[in-house]
Amino acid sequence: MATLHLDVVTPDRTVVSAEAEMVVCAGVLGEFGVLPNHVSLLSALKIGALRYRVNGKDEYVFVSGGFADVNNNLVTVLAESAEMAADIDTARAEAAKRRAEERLAHRDEKVDATRADAALHRAVMRLNVATHR
Ligand code: ATP
Repeated sequence: MATLHLDVVTPDRTVVSAEAEMVVCAGVLGEFGVLPNHVSLLSALKIGALRYRVNGKDEYVFVSGGFADVNNNLVTVLAESAEMAADIDTARAEAAKRRAEERLAHRDEKVDATRADAALHRAVMRLNVATHR
């Protein structure tokens, strides 16, 4: 079966380097799927899940936004942070979720609500992606 190469890279490490039959990304304008021989594209990503298929099985990855570049059967995702579903520490994500909710519930001039919103969103999406392991 035709495949494309997927790299998911953060400033610390390469999280995924795989031959995939399909990749589905959470683009800022909506989810988009990439099959072999897709046209070139560059898209900003939302905080969310990336899904890719290997031998008919879907793998899920949390991605904290960033960019996806599709070119010549190579999908490169650059993100500030990313984890395979199996590597997500759910206790840590639960704690991050509680912390963000607490900040948003007791907001005053010291609370950066945009930052707390983004932290909450990352935590919720990590918990969501972690269900796919
Ligand atoms: P926290 O408040 O728990 O640090 P965060 O959303 O602020 O969460 P990030 O800034 O997105 O964390 O990530 C910092 C580093 O920690 C990255 O390397 C990321 O992969 C890792 N990381 C964060 N949360 C988790 C988690 N729940 N499980 C595994 N790795 C995580």
